[in-house]
Amino acid sequence: MEGALTARDRVGIQDFVLLDTHTSETAFLGNLKKRFSEDLIYTYIGTLLVSVNPYKELDIYSKKQMDIYMGVNFFELPPHIYALADNAYHTMMTEANNHFILISGESGAGKTEASKKILQYYAVSCPSTTLLDSVRDRMLVSNPVLEAFGNAKTLKNDNSSRFGKYMDIQFDIQGDAVGGHILSYLLEKSRVVHQNHGERNFHIFYQLVEGGEEDLLHQLGLESNCQHYSYLVQDECANVTSINDKNDWKTVRNALSVIDFDESDIQHLFGIIASVLHLGNVQFEADSKGYATLNKNTELRWVSTLLGINVQLLQEGLTYRKIEAKTDEVLSPFTVDHAIYARNALAKAIYGRTFTWLVNKINDSMENKEPSRKTVIGLLDIYGFEVFYVNSFEQFCINYCNEKLQQLFIQLTLKSEQEEYEAEGIGWEPVQFFNNKIICDLVEEKHRGIISVLDEECLRPGEATDFTFLEKLEEKMGSHPHFITHKLSDKKTRKTLDRGNFRLLHYAGEVTYGVVGFIDKNNDMLYRNIKDVMRQSKNAIVRECFASTESDSRRRPETVASQFKSSLLGLTDILMSKEPWYVRCLKSNESKQPGRFDDVLVRHQVKYLGLMEHLRVRRAGFAYRRRYELFLQRYKPLCPATWPHWRGVAAEGVEVLVQHLGYLPDEYKMGRTKIFIRHPRTLFATEDAFEV
Ligand code: ATP
Ligand code: MG
Repeated sequence: MEGALTARDRVGIQDFVLLDTHTSETAFLGNLKKRFSEDLIYTYIGTLLVSVNPYKELDIYSKKQMDIYMGVNFFELPPHIYALADNAYHTMMTEANNHFILISGESGAGKTEASKKILQYYAVSCPSTTLLDSVRDRMLVSNPVLEAFGNAKTLKNDNSSRFGKYMDIQFDIQGDAVGGHILSYLLEKSRVVHQNHGERNFHIFYQLVEGGEEDLLHQLGLESNCQHYSYLVQDECANVTSINDKNDWKTVRNALSVIDFDESDIQHLFGIIASVLHLGNVQFEADSKGYATLNKNTELRWVSTLLGINVQLLQEGLTYRKIEAKTDEVLSPFTVDHAIYARNALAKAIYGRTFTWLVNKINDSMENKEPSRKTVIGLLDIYGFEVFYVNSFEQFCINYCNEKLQQLFIQLTLKSEQEEYEAEGIGWEPVQFFNNKIICDLVEEKHRGIISVLDEECLRPGEATDFTFLEKLEEKMGSHPHFITHKLSDKKTRKTLDRGNFRLLHYAGEVTYGVVGFIDKNNDMLYRNIKDVMRQSKNAIVRECFASTESDSRRRPETVASQFKSSLLGLTDILMSKEPWYVRCLKSNESKQPGRFDDVLVRHQVKYLGLMEHLRVRRAGFAYRRRYELFLQRYKPLCPATWPHWRGVAAEGVEVLVQHLGYLPDEYKMGRTKIFIRHPRTLFATEDAFEV
């Protein structure tokens, strides 16, 4: 073990389970800080990996490092993301079951970086054939493409993921990475048309405008200057020092050809990005009756050319709404505000649907068509918990998602750990932890949760407003311990809250949400006539994106929050059926500075990520457990009485085996179906016995 006990004064303890002082938060933070100052950003709590963002390149991700970690026992080398990736892989291979790695932490903590490191590790270290190399390349290059379209600079992170991503990496029976599949979750589409102060739109827009070749820009009718586009300059922060849009453009352009995009796909895709920029510049004026007209329609012509739709129809779609009366249809003109709203809704819809199309396209290219048995390791990298000065519907969804993941973590580790001890008849001292189910229920409970109230309000068009929604919340949730309105804010927190806001006490802290925009964003309406226009597009991607049967059905489409809720339930089901591994990312400081460790900030994250509880659970119990059959199968060669076959009950075979290996009574316990091993080192010694 890395001088776990010898060099500890200098580098701290590599596994918190071994921290022999009492498990105080101060000792925990002291250890993290000591390690961080030595550039040791990884520390274990048993098999959970804690990672602290160094905000600088460390020389620990080379091929040589990968080789060092390959096939080595978890605790034999300094903690590393590769060790976790390698262990998940080897457990999957020996037990032939599915796993997932949940990477969590707040925005900017290093989740996406961690997930990329894991993917690279598998791509480089797994057995390889030329055929598979291409699948692997596609998996790797899918990252820059999805990041270009789905990430953006926010106040918290210059490369913040604005969508959730779950990626299955499929392995065949030989352990080759043979395919991949991505599920994406709720892209923050509103960013296309609006960014908060100090933030940017999605990277791809700047990449194209800054990096696009002259010919291409000419074809797309684009100026090579971000300042020209109103969707890009709202905050005038197009240039960010940490981002090189020109270089990133080349990477993305190259990646697209690796992922099977043919020239027409690429043309259509760029046509869409450009048309969104042109749409943003479409301006309306009021006519004598106050209705919207287009004064100058050069930009509109570009949209129509790039999307291959009739300019007249497009113009009509942006300035009129078709209302169906009993027998015929009536055109109802828009005011200027309404037309701007319709224009933005169209831009968001085009971009959002194209993103989904892109994910599908990447999935097709990574698909493994062999019917053979496969096991998977799922990688979950979802937007982290967010608190801004102004928080809206998007933060509400993101933070709800984080509540769900915390709940899953609780269910899978803390609760299941206790339950397992009980089920196995092994003594257990209960560990106190905060169960955030109460907050999940507050948000998602059927008929009673915030989402239900919001959906009900969305069903009353013309009558409901964001403020009637807030009133309903106050009425229904007023007494909930995690919900605070301005009426009650004084009593509950002694901090006042403006009208128009509500506050939730999340497991990770308090967040105040401004209610403005909730109804609209949840409805995510696009008028039917504009959808019909899009369906006639000559741009194949747009046509495909709008070709659903949705307009035919008279049923109300599901709201955004409800859709998100069901997709998170689906995700929970996917994860529950697999074996978990955890990476908990911590942000070292708010100013993205290398080498700075902000004690207060880190302490807060340690608290809300429940790391202390996790440590207590780990220390109270046994680091390893294995089903008797699996344990026996693996270690039976080490004992003459069990090799080559043990003919009795597996538990008895294990007892004979461990006696032979000299396990001391305190080192293990025999449960009903599993052996529990207190300390990792007992298991290492057993593994090492193979080599003797
Ligand atoms: P979000 O929830 O906003 O998507 P995130 O947790 O995915 O945030 P990342 O994008 O992974 O955060 O990390 C933010 C930045 O921190 C990176 O762009 C990089 O500069 C730095 N960083 C993160 N992890 C590492 C690391 N292991 N080594 C060096 N720098 C890192
Ligand atoms: Mg991210």
